[in-house]
Amino acid sequence: MRRWSWRPQARPIPPQPPSPVPLTREWGSKGKEPPSPWCSFPYFFKEIGPRPGGLRSRPFQRRRGRTPQRPPAPHPRTPQKEDFMDLIETFGAKIGALSEEKPQRARQLLTAGFRANGVKNKLASKRSSKSDRMLFQLVNRAMVTCLAKPQSNVMVSLFTPCEMLHLQGLHPYSCEGFSSYLSGAMAEQPFLHQAEDTGIPNSLCSYHKVFIGAAQMGLMPKPRFILSTSLACDANTLTFRHLAQFYDVPHFNVDIPFESSPQAVDYVAGQLRQMGEFLTQQTGLPLDDGQLARTVARSQRTMALYHRGLRLRAGRQVLSDLTSELLRTAAFHFLLGTPETEAYARQLLREITTAPPAQGKQLLWIHTTPYWVAPLRHLFAQSTRVQVAACDMSYEGIVEADPTKPYEAMARRLVYSPFNGPAQRRIDRALEMAKTVGADGAVWFCHWGCKHTLGGARLGKKALEEAGLPTLLLDGDSCDRGFGGEGQAATRMEAFLEVLEGMA
Ligand code: SF4
Repeated sequence: MRRWSWRPQARPIPPQPPSPVPLTREWGSKGKEPPSPWCSFPYFFKEIGPRPGGLRSRPFQRRRGRTPQRPPAPHPRTPQKEDFMDLIETFGAKIGALSEEKPQRARQLLTAGFRANGVKNKLASKRSSKSDRMLFQLVNRAMVTCLAKPQSNVMVSLFTPCEMLHLQGLHPYSCEGFSSYLSGAMAEQPFLHQAEDTGIPNSLCSYHKVFIGAAQMGLMPKPRFILSTSLACDANTLTFRHLAQFYDVPHFNVDIPFESSPQAVDYVAGQLRQMGEFLTQQTGLPLDDGQLARTVARSQRTMALYHRGLRLRAGRQVLSDLTSELLRTAAFHFLLGTPETEAYARQLLREITTAPPAQGKQLLWIHTTPYWVAPLRHLFAQSTRVQVAACDMSYEGIVEADPTKPYEAMARRLVYSPFNGPAQRRIDRALEMAKTVGADGAVWFCHWGCKHTLGGARLGKKALEEAGLPTLLLDGDSCDRGFGGEGQAATRMEAFLEVLEGMA
């Protein structure tokens, strides 16, 4: 027996009374038999009448004399945002199609696309703040370099300290950052399918799947070597070993112990020293400890500037968007230690210091932002109603350390990261940061495939709500459009905002 359901299409249709309109009245045939569209066609047109002056009215209302004039052509439409999205979609499809047969050509096209995006951002993003524009240029340049100058490329996992690489003039690029960029170009789907078709499980984080697929299809150039850490997920250990075998390049992995202690810092610092020797072996360039100390000092200064900004952030309105949150993650990881990143942090601090009082709601965001979800992106874009005050992907690197001992300082950043160890450490840090930035609520983004973020979600919600911070668990995927649920994510966020606004 069929069960009753709210869905109208699943409910049994009750018996209907006979229609009071006889069949012959259909199609405008005015009761004339038969009700065929061909026979009733002229009657139908006579009934509603031709469009006055329209060209198609001529067979019915022939006019003598002047041929009716065509209405003047409308003004050319100003390009809309949707047109631009269509353009990106076509671009993404082209990259995917070309990668199948001509990966070199796809790479050139992608490089040109990223360059064009940089120019567009310079010329057209007047609504964004100066710091957001600086940030975009910084990360975009890194992505272009990774494709255009493969001879100096070093593939890294997001949390790998890259100060030694910057010092040697090498270009680190993170696998996760590159996947995000491919997703931004709407080109991630063929690479995801490629990875899954070769046996990579569907449940692996999509950042890793996209990158593996791009490597297998030849879109990614071969790196000189690969550096990775076991922070922050077990996916790293497998992906980078797999890629090193695939490209047949040397690989150095830094193991981060679960416990945070001075012994763990010494253990990791020892591995970082070995990483320095590995680099010297690969490049033939010696590493100067004094220069390294200065570069690490710059990293520490950058994170200290950002921390000062966060402390001043409470009660201030700093407009931004979800994309910038993700770009900041890139800048504060594989671009940390460069003068450009320090200049960006200084500019951001300047803007926070002079920002007006906040009007909208301030959120604490846990994990990555799904910036490809258009309704969600629009909700946050330069919005006075809601802003992300802090995101744990960006502030996780704020760890005090002595830069005169550069290896120990880098090791402390890894060992004492809230992403290392039990979920409770990440939660405690979130509670502390929520107080610092004066957050009104928190969003815990459950990125599909990120097992430790998913695992800590309910614990996090409980702890944050017990501390008086309403928390939304938002499911989705930051990189894979195929995951869907865009409308649902935006509706849930809207409802959450209404709850927060109702509490004011
Ligand atoms: S999202 Fe999670 S699983 Fe994916 S790379 Fe980041 S930490 Fe690892």
